[in-house]
Amino acid sequence: MLIDTHSHIYLNEFDDDRTEVIKRAIQNNIRTILLPNIDKNSINPMMQLANTYPKICLPMMGMHPTSVNENFKKELVLIEEWLTKEKFYGIGETGIDLYWDKKYTAEQIKSFSIQIGWAKKYNLPIVIHVRESFNEVFNILDNLNDEKLNGVFHCFTGTLQQAEKIISYGFKIGIGGVLTFKNSKLDETVKNIDLKHIILETDSPYLTPAPNRGKRNESSFMIYTAQKLAEVKNETLEKVTEITTENAINLFKLT
Ligand SMILES: [Zn+2]
Repeated sequence: MLIDTHSHIYLNEFDDDRTEVIKRAIQNNIRTILLPNIDKNSINPMMQLANTYPKICLPMMGMHPTSVNENFKKELVLIEEWLTKEKFYGIGETGIDLYWDKKYTAEQIKSFSIQIGWAKKYNLPIVIHVRESFNEVFNILDNLNDEKLNGVFHCFTGTLQQAEKIISYGFKIGIGGVLTFKNSKLDETVKNIDLKHIILETDSPYLTPAPNRGKRNESSFMIYTAQKLAEVKNETLEKVTEITTENAINLFKLT
């Protein structure tokens, strides 16, 4: 069975049919859906979903880089409180996004560094969002990575060189629907990455794989990404399922 390691199905895009979405995920061989938090406003809907489906929907806690502004420190205090009172499976999503806005670059760097500290303190993997920021993220990890820290570069779309850098940290590479996009060229890169470094994700409701590109994404569509990965790696779907699921189980300490 497959694990969707990154899905935002607590967002209101799913308010009308969330139960069906989860049912379809289970019918399509998805055993676990990991929920990355965004900011203080997404905590309640995320926790509600995690409490409704405690065996399937597993929450993570952190603050997304595009939610970082001049008040980020206050918000991080509130978010860290949650880490002390509930079980979470990862820190995130965090990272750096310089595509949407460069105004808070310094604050994003600080927020990411603080959340790396949480990953170490609470012994949890970190889920990293990178958008036009590989150099910044690598600089921070060059300073802060240690044997204790692990995590994933979620929705990886970088070069082979960047993938090798991630692997050198001992981190995993999160592959989503972009792999199925005709002009992404991600398949050329992924061809050269060993499956032992890869985990699968949807990033629902975004980045829907072909042939459903343009529609809202959901966990059941992850099968298309898994099939494409099998094709790219010249492996069977069973092998891809087995290895990526085992990688996710180990990274997020699932049972
Ligand atoms: Zn995300």
